[in-house]
Amino acid sequence: MRKEQQIVLATRNRGKVAEFNRLFAPLQWNVVSLSEFPEAPEVVEDGETFAANAIKKALTIANYTGMTAIADDSGLEVDALNGAPGVYSARYAGEGATDEANWRKLLDALADTPMEKRTARFRCTLAYVEPGQEPILASGACEGVILREPAGSGGFGYDPVFYLPTRLCTMAQLPADVKNQISHRGAAMQALLKRFLGE
Ligand code: IMP
Repeated sequence: MRKEQQIVLATRNRGKVAEFNRLFAPLQWNVVSLSEFPEAPEVVEDGETFAANAIKKALTIANYTGMTAIADDSGLEVDALNGAPGVYSARYAGEGATDEANWRKLLDALADTPMEKRTARFRCTLAYVEPGQEPILASGACEGVILREPAGSGGFGYDPVFYLPTRLCTMAQLPADVKNQISHRGAAMQALLKRFLGE
């Protein structure tokens, strides 16, 4: 793609935008966030996979803005629950549920599951859509174990109950910059970056 082409990130989350800008600085893309488009349509995330949701968001925003759009979708997969909550992670305890309600429901669902069977991973898929072109996808994952009790106050979502065996702490106990480096979203962004640096 042309370097001077503008890219719109299909998120209003300032943390995601800052992290994207930091990682993608070498490409000198001109990145704007969805906050610049307050009238942009809301996208209903009703896909059955992270990829389907990310593509739907990126296509909608690319069509609306006429610009290249990048969207992400992510969630938690728990092995003992056959991959749930998956694409329902944000609304596991119901539409508009708080983060705490979601992880409490998860702890309840795993109440009888022994520690060795509480393996899980965060997954993230990014979709890059240039108007009129096929989507380009990049994914990342971060492996962990679901604790019985929360620990830590950083991050969001399921971070307080997601333990990282490689770091000996939960995701919510990591400084934000370390989380960005090892997270599923970080891994997906690095995979996408590689795709363009390699061109
Ligand atoms: P979204 O892709 O940003 O919409 O995230 C969907 C849901 O997945 C969030 O509401 C969280 O419940 C969960 N999730 C995604 N990424 C993370 C993370 O880094 N930490 C904790 N929970 C996450």
